[in-house]
Amino acid sequence: MILPSSSVTTLARLIPSFVSKKTSTSAIHRLLHSSSKRSNANGSSGAVKTAPTPPSGSGGGVLTGILAAGAGFAVGSNIEEIKGVIGIKGANASPKVDETSELFAKYFPRNIVLLFGPPGAGKGTHAPLIVETLGLPQLSTGDMLRAAVGAGTDVGKRAEAVMKAGGLVSDDIVIGIIKDRITEKDCRHGFILDGFPRTLAQTRALDKMLVEEGASVTSVIDFSIPDKVLEERITGRWIHKSSGRSYHAKFAPPKSMDASKGPLPENMKDDETDEPLIQRPDDTAQALGKRLRGYHKETVPILKHYIPNGVVKTVNANQKMDIVSAEVMTALSRAGGKK
Ligand code: AMP
Repeated sequence: MILPSSSVTTLARLIPSFVSKKTSTSAIHRLLHSSSKRSNANGSSGAVKTAPTPPSGSGGGVLTGILAAGAGFAVGSNIEEIKGVIGIKGANASPKVDETSELFAKYFPRNIVLLFGPPGAGKGTHAPLIVETLGLPQLSTGDMLRAAVGAGTDVGKRAEAVMKAGGLVSDDIVIGIIKDRITEKDCRHGFILDGFPRTLAQTRALDKMLVEEGASVTSVIDFSIPDKVLEERITGRWIHKSSGRSYHAKFAPPKSMDASKGPLPENMKDDETDEPLIQRPDDTAQALGKRLRGYHKETVPILKHYIPNGVVKTVNANQKMDIVSAEVMTALSRAGGKK
């Protein structure tokens, strides 16, 4: 797997006490890419998109490699020699990556990122970049609820009609889902919330869950976009159900679409798997009206709740995708990009 430079930079930032200031990102890149056993820490079920978690639960190679890179040693240098140079002392001086991961889980606050914005703003589109960069799982309540509907569970049965009409599922249900989910192991360094919280009651419940462990929301990425562009985005959206890949009949058609015929179920196929794409039942102009009314009334006040904490970063989501991606990366970085 090739990590973007940004991920490597992030990784280096995440493990500051072990990485010399002189560590070059290209050195870390080489070491990470030559490391044989990077694991995906997703131990959970359900609709979750997960990236490699830094530091991952692999063997000791990555950390050893980083230590070596930071001190200008070749990989495989004697670890004691490296420790001496970069000044690590004591019994835990050369923790394996698993141990490092445990240290982070125990002593560092979790990184909790909220993706905020109306339906069609691009939260789902940009989420994979954020997942890849931070190495944290994306928890989408919409995906989890759709999975529950698909599986015909009690929660799914209770949620189905309200979702189809573009309404909000009850706070109790979604708070319960998130409360359970964030205790899973892949969330131990943090998580990315997509579609939660959507009401002030959910916000307060989230803050309460976090305060119990001395944590709080670390960033809110606010995808700002005028309502008037959302209808075209939403009604043209086609999704590959199992991967979450999203296409648009006009702006990002799959290779299979015949432009002369327009989007038809039989010619809308996922580029990678050739499986059929679907349109969400709530991606209609009618349901969108209701979703947007709910968004402005119930969800927008959440921004005001977090602004005093200095964690809200607004991105102009009404631009070309690569420009939005660049703004998202800046928003994610510490102090909006300043060192
Ligand atoms: P999404 O995929 O985020 O657009 O969510 C799809 C639908 O799931 C929403 O329109 C709601 O009906 C329901 N839903 C998702 N997340 C929540 C939430 N946090 N609170 C209430 N309903 C939700």
